[in-house]
Amino acid sequence: MRRRNSFLKRRLKALIARRISAADGPGYLYAFFDGRNVVKVGRAVDVRRRELQWDVACWNPNRVWTDSIWCPYVHRAESIAHILLEQDCVDRPKRKCPTCGKRHQEKFRFRGTQNEISTHVRNVRLTARSL
Ligand SMILES: [Zn+2]
Repeated sequence: MRRRNSFLKRRLKALIARRISAADGPGYLYAFFDGRNVVKVGRAVDVRRRELQWDVACWNPNRVWTDSIWCPYVHRAESIAHILLEQDCVDRPKRKCPTCGKRHQEKFRFRGTQNEISTHVRNVRLTARSL
């Protein structure tokens, strides 16, 4: 379920104002489709390794990975990207995964073709990196 816009706006403002943590550092924002119009966005230092971890933990033959985006401060970029995606999405599905039974966090459902969604999610990650 999406949280209220007023809450998301306040949260975004606070995240942008926050000083960059000394523990933050470079990495990649990855994104994949789990289903036709549901996207998961996460962060990893080594995306190839993370892809393998996903395949072991939750094997889904229909998972489609998109391009990853390098960020100098990937923790911060990820938090901002999640808020921006929540603002735009139709909904945040939290039901149990049919493949592994877990409730995966930070999945977002969008309307449109996979190409449109993919472009949008890429632009959101670029914006998150720049804020
Ligand atoms: Zn799963």
